Amino acid sequence: MDFRARFAPSPTGQVHIGNIRTAIFNWLTTRHCKGTFLLRIEDTDLERSTQEAIDKLLECMKWLGLDYDEEIMYQTAQGEKHKEAARKLLEKGDAYYLNPGEEHSPLLFKLPMACDSMPFVRETGPAEIVLAPESEVALNLCGVTYSTLSPKGKTVENAACLAGFKNLTITDAAGTVLFQLNDDTMKALSRNPQEKTVIAGASRLNFLRREVFFHDMVKGELAKPLDSMKDFIIVRSDGSPVFHLANVYDDMQQKVTHIIRGDDHVENTYRHLFLFEALGFTPPRYAHLPMIVNAAGKPYSKRDGDAFVGDFREKGFLPQALFNYLALLGWSPGDDREKMSREELVEAFTIERALCSPAQFDIRKLTNMNGAYIAELPPEEFEKRILPFVEKYCPEGAASPLLGNVAALMQSRTKTFADVAHWNYFFRKPEELEYDPKGLKKLLSDDTVRKAVAAFAENVQEAGPLTAQDVDDRIHSIESEYGIQQDHLKQPLRIAITGVTVGAGICETIELIGGSACAVRIARALSL
Ligand code: GLU
Repeated sequence: MDFRARFAPSPTGQVHIGNIRTAIFNWLTTRHCKGTFLLRIEDTDLERSTQEAIDKLLECMKWLGLDYDEEIMYQTAQGEKHKEAARKLLEKGDAYYLNPGEEHSPLLFKLPMACDSMPFVRETGPAEIVLAPESEVALNLCGVTYSTLSPKGKTVENAACLAGFKNLTITDAAGTVLFQLNDDTMKALSRNPQEKTVIAGASRLNFLRREVFFHDMVKGELAKPLDSMKDFIIVRSDGSPVFHLANVYDDMQQKVTHIIRGDDHVENTYRHLFLFEALGFTPPRYAHLPMIVNAAGKPYSKRDGDAFVGDFREKGFLPQALFNYLALLGWSPGDDREKMSREELVEAFTIERALCSPAQFDIRKLTNMNGAYIAELPPEEFEKRILPFVEKYCPEGAASPLLGNVAALMQSRTKTFADVAHWNYFFRKPEELEYDPKGLKKLLSDDTVRKAVAAFAENVQEAGPLTAQDVDDRIHSIESEYGIQQDHLKQPLRIAITGVTVGAGICETIELIGGSACAVRIARALSL
């Protein structure tokens, strides 16, 4: 069987990492089995869908290398087909108008009473619901409404579709039968969906319980009792088709065989199975992905930090790193590999390996992974890629002849391109350098250290070009001269020369900045 999966986003704003992870899982699954990956833009929410959001989405997909087969399906262009499908469902008796006499009435899909032969419905046995005392049961075509008592004694109103109550018998406290759901009573209820048959003095509902079930490729078997479901709207009173109908119809038209989507859609799937059946299409197989959560286990949102693909792009994440990280967010290759190329992921990715517990988003892990990808870039490529970030975050560096050397020195310790914001000290004039006051106090207070630092300045001031090795040797000889432990002069020199306490190797840094410039910087630091 040809494998066909799709990504079906609603373009209503920025692209959330959860959404793009769904796209990545669909893409990888499809590419793994050499199937067809489709893109459908579910733009039917006309108030919230914008062209800008569609453009952004397509750009994100392109950036991440999520190429698709066949033409994009735009759901708005399918409107007439959806309406036609709704008309057919109405004709077949699978749907009904809520207010039949009125010009504008919502159209509801009828969960079918005769569903025993459907492959996703099964009987679980006799069920009894004890009603709240003195309560009424009301029945009409839309279903059954009744009251029960909660464990705390509160009255709870319930409503469910008729199909949930196969062979329903309603009895009073004495066991007298007040109502039975059979062909005749069904016919009477079908006449007017709004007209209610009210049964007073009812005490119990007895019926055969049935449930909808399916095997989810990630979560295993999922089931829901039919007496907890309601008939649902498929066309609004203004004539516009609802998500359920549009989504299922389009999946049918695109001949989708596998639906991989967020587990916020599980409840929809129970309904969609019936819609597929009514439209005469074998339902696809489903995989519902657990959501992405924050450290507290709550859905990961903008409040937790960067949550949109665009944010990561702007901060200087590489698409291959974000792709790799998101592929492993809720999926595992079954061994301890983490850094995996696109080809390796395609090779290993089957949706059955997706994890069934929520995936925690860990920005540190993503950042480290990004650093590993950056470290692998050819140096010329790195230099090219950082340019826009240098212009934005470190403008002094943009025109500096030092930039190439600084880039070469800093590449291995760059985690995101936005890290170039910390490169300013290479390019600034000594009088414009900013000092970390705490570091200054901690590292440049001791008298001997200050003298040694000054001696180093004097030593390199007129030394001409220095290699990192020269610098290292000079530092060591001054350390022994002043009785300072080996390498313990390096941090004081670092703060004096760069203004900060972390950075690349100080000897390499001094090599780059040059002896005389370092001497000027040191003099200023010591004067502060
Ligand atoms: N448009 C729906 C959403 O973005 C997608 C539903 C689906 O994948 O079936 O949530």
